[in-house]
Amino acid sequence: MSEISLLPATLEFLQRPHGQFIDGNPCTGSGNTIAVINPATEAVIASVSTASTDQINAAVNAAHQCFTSVWADFNPYARGLILNRLADLIEAHGEELAQLETLESGKNIVLSRIFAVQQSALCLRYFAGWTTKISGETLPCNFPSMQGEQYSAYTRREPVGVVAAIVPWNFSVMIACWKLAAALACGCTVVLKPSEFTPLALLRLMELAREAGLPAGALNLVNGAGEVGKALIEHPLVNKVSFTGSVASGEKVNVAAASRMIRCTLELGGKNTAALLKDADINRAVGGLLQTGYIHQGQVCAAPERVLVHRSRIDELTDKLGAALTAAPMGSPLDERMPFGPLSNRPHFDKVRHYLDIASRESRILCGGQSLDRPGYYITPAMVQARHIEETLMQEETFGPVISFMAYDDEEELLGLINHSPYGLGTSLWTNNLAAAMRMIPKVESGTVWVNMHTMVDPSVPFGGVKKSGLGREFGSAAIEEYTELKSVFLCY
Ligand code: NAD
Repeated sequence: MSEISLLPATLEFLQRPHGQFIDGNPCTGSGNTIAVINPATEAVIASVSTASTDQINAAVNAAHQCFTSVWADFNPYARGLILNRLADLIEAHGEELAQLETLESGKNIVLSRIFAVQQSALCLRYFAGWTTKISGETLPCNFPSMQGEQYSAYTRREPVGVVAAIVPWNFSVMIACWKLAAALACGCTVVLKPSEFTPLALLRLMELAREAGLPAGALNLVNGAGEVGKALIEHPLVNKVSFTGSVASGEKVNVAAASRMIRCTLELGGKNTAALLKDADINRAVGGLLQTGYIHQGQVCAAPERVLVHRSRIDELTDKLGAALTAAPMGSPLDERMPFGPLSNRPHFDKVRHYLDIASRESRILCGGQSLDRPGYYITPAMVQARHIEETLMQEETFGPVISFMAYDDEEELLGLINHSPYGLGTSLWTNNLAAAMRMIPKVESGTVWVNMHTMVDPSVPFGGVKKSGLGREFGSAAIEEYTELKSVFLCY
């Protein structure tokens, strides 16, 4: 095993007292603390105080004050410059951010460098480009003139106001950047609530945002569990909630937002299907499943969790994938060569173990699923054979390194199986049969369909789910619409 060395800056950051980031300043002191645990070792690596009610109020008030007096009317080009500067600083301090994300989430350091650093910077630069392009339309009026007067009309896109951005633990920096980049580009201000398991890298991001020149109050952060998120949504000065997390929490968020009649975007869980048609290139699919299904131990919302394979090809696929999985090492996420590491936290480890118990009763475990006899939340990557689409492992999200495989016989049956799910986040079709792919794409109940690939997201392509996978979209012009209100203006002359 060869672990990278932690930077002095990382070690110094871990030692500091931590809490909230409000109106441009760090602050601690609510009395309650979260012990941040390294899932690779189970050691406590830092302590973070949770937000008191007064601190939640102060964060929202600071965001509201900044919105009304500074940020909503900030020169759009200058807004873009600040977002670009933040992207530059994320890259300049990339190794420190990546190390913090790896230490608190168990994500391999190579993945942290890609997702917490490169993808976050890319997303900020993409939305920096939008700041100067958010505009309305001039519209013809059809109403006939009564006394010779004329009408004209135009629309304005105006920022919705204060956004509560609530994020999960699996890609804390990247998912936070998806939200804050789009919101800040539109002129909204933000109160961010990290997951209680991963507050550290985002606290460091707040300091970089201040250094980038973001006005005090434009971006605030409060720490704590679900009740802190709930208090944000219930705050009268919050105008929108952008939530990423589980369906169970998302349903509560949706009800709370609806009761205040505020805008709500929900990016929730999935039970995503990879469908291999009869002609699928099996070697390519094995590579694709290794890369997307087990990356970060399967703790990826869009990861394929169930694979439907034409009956004539299923043994070839499971043999080749099983061989690749059993040959791959598992170990410290600070070792750059380690493809597999720990699950991100104890409750999630217990949840995945629970699903493996069910799999051993209801289905058949083909390989993996063992816990390691060492500290840390390690479970070896598992393959499960299912016989029926109603089996638990074909219906419920495990969010772990567990993929279920089932055979099908024809295209009509395949479509029925794909859509037999409460979720609809992402589906991949593996085929070079263009006609079959084009026939199926419109019929798949899913926010995204990939062909011969899985899980790719891009800041210019809308991303989100249908059915229980959520409401609304991240990315692209769709995100701009999520963070702006359309105002219509009529003129008579
Ligand atoms: P979670 O729902 O437990 O928590 C997500 C966030 O919501 C945390 O910050 C949590 O403190 C907060 N929260 C919990 N209850 C709340 C409430 N009642 N009101 C307001 N906030 C509340 O989810 P998790 O375990 O952190 O994340 C894993 C889930 O996230 C998986 O289901 C995964 O599929 C989903 N996810 C979805 C996407 C996507 O883009 N669709 C991306 C990543 C993760």
